[in-house]
Amino acid sequence: MPRLGIVGSGLIGGSFIRALAAGTDYELLAFDRRAETSELIRSACPNVVTMQLPAALTRRPETDSNANFTDLDAEAETLRRQHPAFWEAVSSCDIIIFCTPIDLIPHQVRLVSRLSTALMSDVGSTKHDLCSELEGLRFMGGHPMAGSERQGFECSRADMFQNAPYVLCPPPTDRYHGPLEADLNSLRSMAQSLGASPYVIDPETHDRIVASVSHLPHVAAAALVNTVGECGGLALDLSAGGFRDITRIASSDPGLWAEICLSSAPALLPALDAYAGHVERFRDAVETNDYESLYALFQAGRTTRDGLPLAGNGALLTASGLTVYVEDTPGSVAAITVLLAEAGISIRNVSLRNARQYEGGQLRIFVTDSIEQQKSLNILRSKGYDCE
Ligand code: NAP
Repeated sequence: MPRLGIVGSGLIGGSFIRALAAGTDYELLAFDRRAETSELIRSACPNVVTMQLPAALTRRPETDSNANFTDLDAEAETLRRQHPAFWEAVSSCDIIIFCTPIDLIPHQVRLVSRLSTALMSDVGSTKHDLCSELEGLRFMGGHPMAGSERQGFECSRADMFQNAPYVLCPPPTDRYHGPLEADLNSLRSMAQSLGASPYVIDPETHDRIVASVSHLPHVAAAALVNTVGECGGLALDLSAGGFRDITRIASSDPGLWAEICLSSAPALLPALDAYAGHVERFRDAVETNDYESLYALFQAGRTTRDGLPLAGNGALLTASGLTVYVEDTPGSVAAITVLLAEAGISIRNVSLRNARQYEGGQLRIFVTDSIEQQKSLNILRSKGYDCE
């Protein structure tokens, strides 16, 4: 039974803990800097061993003058002497996952590598720089592609990674200190235990894709809210559902996203330039009163958007969807989901479109496969629902 250490039980680390503590064989150890977090973990998941993270592993390279970032051997020796229980705990782990802010991870991994031979990985949102910095160690970059704008163990969820892609970035064999294939398989199987789907991708490709589909939208959402915010409070008061939908992620943690954007700069800058180019095309078309171009730009966006598998959740590529036309009345959505639940149909995701603006709304329901899809349609039609 593998022993898995989690360093930093926030939103992502906490979700690892909740997902793996229930119903898997992993023995879990949680290393956290704050006693309050350890307490929360113990009350939510009593089978998890918790331990305080020594101060040497909480320091930031740029800002902490007490950190000894050059003589890691000396720092590791001090850690062994002053924190023998921590040394013993990390030495006993088979895998250690670092779920801390991305700028802390290189130092933490280097230092813990001097105390433990465990396979190490992380969850950071950018991979190229981190993977290059940690070449030569038994470290393999990882990125579970799920999350939210919330923070901390309190907001973590056992189902966070269900059906989400989990990217793994193995280095070339000659730049890895360990059994590469076996380690890749261990991380693959951990990702599957979380309910995620592992993908093996090189760090550059990962960063290019993630800059476009994740980091650019965070910048765009913040820029849009800032633009509307400058119009004054009345504009915000009058903003409707559409504005709220597309700006939800502007409520994310500013510190975390500032770090992520800086660490993703080489991939984010070309994505921002491409985006600015698209905004410019809209601007030109409006300025020149060019209906045809505007139509083509909106049409291109709509075609691509409509082709997305379930509102951008690439994880649910295999799910089958159905659309139910619902009235805007209290309980109408609940009635439909209850009907399907009573028939034992597992709903993988739901979304509501066009609610209120037009005639009622379209409830999009995703179920496991085409057989469940047909069964759902039959049940709903037999109850008089208009669905396809
Ligand atoms: P979070 O909820 O704020 O958790 C951060 C964790 O790091 C907490 O346990 C925090 O401890 C700890 N931490 C912060 N500063 C520390 C320090 N100086 N020393 C030691 N521990 C420290 O954030 P998160 O969303 O889980 O993000 C963690 C990682 O996940 C980041 O690398 C991020 O790139 C990656 N990620 C995030 C998302 C997302 O959607 N949020 C998605 C995928 C990957 P305290 O509780 O004591 O503050």
